[in-house]
Amino acid sequence: MGAAETRSREYPVRVIYLGGLGRSGSTLLERLLGELPGVSAAGEIVHLWQRGVAENERCGCGLDFSACDFWKQVGKEAFGGWDKIDTGQIGRLKDAVDRTRQIPRLSQRNSRPGFASELSEYSGFYLRVYRAIADVSGCDALVDSSKHASLAFCLSGRQEIDLRVIHVVRDSRAVAYSWTTTVARPEASGSGQQSPGSYMTTYSPAKAAGHWNAQNAALQWLARRGTPVLRVRYEDLVAATEQTLRRAATFAGLPAGELTLPFLHADGDEPYAELTTAHTASGNPMRFTTGRLPIRGDERWRSSMPDEQRRVVTALTFPLLRRYGYLGRAA
Ligand SMILES: [Zn+2]
Repeated sequence: MGAAETRSREYPVRVIYLGGLGRSGSTLLERLLGELPGVSAAGEIVHLWQRGVAENERCGCGLDFSACDFWKQVGKEAFGGWDKIDTGQIGRLKDAVDRTRQIPRLSQRNSRPGFASELSEYSGFYLRVYRAIADVSGCDALVDSSKHASLAFCLSGRQEIDLRVIHVVRDSRAVAYSWTTTVARPEASGSGQQSPGSYMTTYSPAKAAGHWNAQNAALQWLARRGTPVLRVRYEDLVAATEQTLRRAATFAGLPAGELTLPFLHADGDEPYAELTTAHTASGNPMRFTTGRLPIRGDERWRSSMPDEQRRVVTALTFPLLRRYGYLGRAA
């Protein structure tokens, strides 16, 4: 074992993992956390291998993945260059271990040896990238906004990773409404034609409700198994941004008491953040925003969501909606 490996074992790499179903506001939280001193926002590392390394989609800085110096250095440090890894193999490992349906197995301490070695190989790729991001950025903590609960379970078994999960929740009706609408992905080439990959995925309201239940329940389970998990409501992040960020920073082990948040401003009663460039590997189109970003909740679902859809989603997600305080009093 080399000296570097010994050292990293003594000092695990601190990863602030944003978990929850997509369209829950995790990109806003990631961008705000990324403005804190000592924090590097890395995007959705789960998609780094395919969309970044294999398909050369754009980094949050606007350059192609292969042209971005930050990621070039990370690849060199982690693997001796991105051309040294087989993204197909990482994809096969992902299919084997990093699936929602594998969560029961991931939560067992003693799974069958074959599964355990695939899991170790798979999470090892993340570990090396995380360490390299920490080294290249010089930051104490990095944000991985991959969101999937299954990946958080995959990472939770590794001693070398100081994993702190921020479980981002948002009203299921707002999330389901968002999943029914189409959003273009600016990473993909802009021919204006609908082709695979040029728009973000859409779900029916019932399907979105099912995913919302599964991801949220899984993250609660992760917390019960001993991984540090902080639940943050998107609505609170928008309504009380500074307070919510300080809570998240404290949870992540950052010196929140001394933190100044000079990137938060208000124009009259319109709060906004002033964002710098972030080298994010993949994620929501908001990752490309620099400069002024208005902080306001998207409440379109309240007026635009058909009643029938709203009833279906409310019924299907009722227990957790109530638990998270979206139906009057929190349970
Ligand atoms: Zn970049």
